[in-house]
Amino acid sequence: MKTSEKTNLLDLDRHGLEMFFAEIGEKSFRTSQILKWVYQFGVCDFDAMTNLSKALREKLKDIAEIRLPEIVSEHRSHDGTIKWVLRIDNLNCIETVFIPEAERGTLCISSQVGCALDCDFCSTAQQGFNRNLSTGEIIGQLWIANHAMGATPRDQRHISNVVLMGMGEPLLNFDNVVSAISLMLDDDAYGLSKRRVTLSTSGVVPALDRLKEICDVSLALSLHAPDDALRDILVPLNKKYPIAEVIAACKRYIDNGASRRKVTVEYVMLAGVNDSDEHAKKLARLLRSLPSKVNLIPFNPFPRTVYKSSSQERIDAFREILLKNNITAITRKTRGDDIDAACGQLAGQVMDRTKRQQRKQNQVGAI
Ligand code: SAH
Repeated sequence: MKTSEKTNLLDLDRHGLEMFFAEIGEKSFRTSQILKWVYQFGVCDFDAMTNLSKALREKLKDIAEIRLPEIVSEHRSHDGTIKWVLRIDNLNCIETVFIPEAERGTLCISSQVGCALDCDFCSTAQQGFNRNLSTGEIIGQLWIANHAMGATPRDQRHISNVVLMGMGEPLLNFDNVVSAISLMLDDDAYGLSKRRVTLSTSGVVPALDRLKEICDVSLALSLHAPDDALRDILVPLNKKYPIAEVIAACKRYIDNGASRRKVTVEYVMLAGVNDSDEHAKKLARLLRSLPSKVNLIPFNPFPRTVYKSSSQERIDAFREILLKNNITAITRKTRGDDIDAACGQLAGQVMDRTKRQQRKQNQVGAI
């Protein structure tokens, strides 16, 4: 893929586009026109943007472009889940997953190429990390999914919800993620309600505090353990931001919202690791003061992992304890596991800069 000197308009949110048009001496209403063409009508060819003057179209062709990731492959699960592998440059591919349900269609998007966090039970972590995705590469995943599913102009109803739960830690790619979210919410672009956009994080405390000042999307916290000793192992970021600090930051986040909302607490069920009655009771105590609903996620396996999922009976018993303690809890249905599209199974193709892939392979070799 050739790199280009032109400005990729997908990298600019409303504010960025307004600055772009001001710089080339155009009125700010051009911003709404471009947003509608690109995101509502799915048009990326400047020549087809008929309400722009001929001169402006020629100018845009010279200095700007609308450059999307390329679909490498599309995989369809027997349950209707679709996974796309997207090439974003010569070295790297990311993954995006669409999960249809009766009442909604959820697109699970990636925010980074690989992940810099090293959660032991997550396939993305095994890939290492290459770089942050640009705003265009993040919002481009919505464009591509809509297009691939044949959404007609203005009819974006395939995708009613977006979750930043794919590859990467969104709060470690703060600016680009915030710009992409603002396009998801912008009425001239995708116009999603903030309740239908969910950012999932392992708990980057300072970034959570920054986010609450800027935007107010739904929040999911990857907790996975009820005490610091265990979470230090499963989610190493915990050593930097321990549970009490993360929970306090989540409270500040939802207290800030105009309407009081709940945090979704994600808890992957690992047999013999974090799934005992005692863990459930500790979790209930921990969450007593946080308006939350727990999503229990059966562990999805991937090559060379040492973990196994808890049995259905164990997950049910764990959930019962939470319910008895007045904590809302559901078990997340596994979707798309036959095409490696389930939670924690996204791998893409990452040119690892951290040498993590190599280290992990050496470790396995040494056992
Ligand atoms: N870095 C962010 C975004 C990734 S979200 C975060 O940590 O929240 C991906 C979700 O899937 C997280 O809750 C993650 O912990 C969970 N997950 C990761 N690996 C998994 C696996 N193998 N099985 C089930 N869930 C997994």
